[in-house]
Amino acid sequence: MNLSDLGEFGLISRIRKLSRQPHSSPVVGIGDDAAALETASSHLLLATTDLLIEDVHFDLSRTDYYSLGWKSAAVNLSDIAAMGGLPRFCLTALGMPRTTTPRQVLDFYRGFNDLLKQSKTVLVGGDTCASRQGLFISVTVLGQAKRPEIITRAGARPGDLIFVTGALGDSAAGLELLQRGTGRRGAAERSLLRKHLMPEPRIAEGRMLAVSRCASAMIDVSDGLSSDLAHICEESRVGAVVDEKRIPLSPALRSVARNLQKPALDYALSGGEDYELLFTVPARKVRKLQALDLPAIAIGVVTRGRKMLISDREGTTKRLRPQGYDHFSKPKRGKGKPAGR
Ligand code: ADP
Ligand code: MG
Repeated sequence: MNLSDLGEFGLISRIRKLSRQPHSSPVVGIGDDAAALETASSHLLLATTDLLIEDVHFDLSRTDYYSLGWKSAAVNLSDIAAMGGLPRFCLTALGMPRTTTPRQVLDFYRGFNDLLKQSKTVLVGGDTCASRQGLFISVTVLGQAKRPEIITRAGARPGDLIFVTGALGDSAAGLELLQRGTGRRGAAERSLLRKHLMPEPRIAEGRMLAVSRCASAMIDVSDGLSSDLAHICEESRVGAVVDEKRIPLSPALRSVARNLQKPALDYALSGGEDYELLFTVPARKVRKLQALDLPAIAIGVVTRGRKMLISDREGTTKRLRPQGYDHFSKPKRGKGKPAGR
């Protein structure tokens, strides 16, 4: 079967059935001219959108539609998490080549909805078009948070400690494995590939930081530690010193990087798409943070001088420059490579 057998409205009706959720029903969802959503007057509405473009963000010869759906939801949910928000509703707009099959589209929505369900978020609308060239995916997520819970990039102050959740660099190493194609796929390789193809946004951790009011600034790591920390520094008008040996690297990354003959640290500093949370905490709140028992580790400190520095194992300090992906910088990574956003 192809899309023309099913037609636009046949497809939308399948998507609608796939996207029903027991825990959450909008006042008006998919099927009308616009969704009608109940919002709490005590909360602010958070809104975020991200575009995923074939051969810029993903390569269909190396990803399946289920993972692509999952990841399209993940990158947006992660932005709500990074504000300390609770995601509630979601919209998707797809531009699809006519050769796309209904099965592929529905697999995309299976992956998408599986993560949405896990995150108690519901798809309430979208748009569906034919594309002359390549697959386009635009996802919008709406979330909520009380005003004092919101954690922006602008609140870091000199003396705050810098923390990061999970481990960094796995996704970038996973991408490199995908691009290299064949090779041994042991447990380490599989775990890096999973981190790249199906990242888990840190929604629960973001909420804990928001509710406890421990964090002064926060961002999700989508472009690589060096670039995302630079965003916090810029918005907060501060600098930072990062302790190289404290940057969390997974055992899987260490072993695969050894095989790829590249320093594991490079993946963490400049590789994107980890979707971990990078946040700052005033020294007086560190105990409170520790009581939350989050999977997070201190990697540095915020400074008054506006530079970013990194101190290596010998204690030598050097400049840390943003090295993550920039869509409009001069190409240094090879054309058409899927990369961060
Ligand atoms: P309109 O003509 O008003 O733009 P559409 O025919 O595009 O309406 O869409 C009909 C309904 O289906 C709307 O509720 C819209 O939000 C929803 N919808 C369309 N495409 C998608 C999609 N890809 N994913 C989810 N909902 C969709
Ligand atoms: Mg429409």
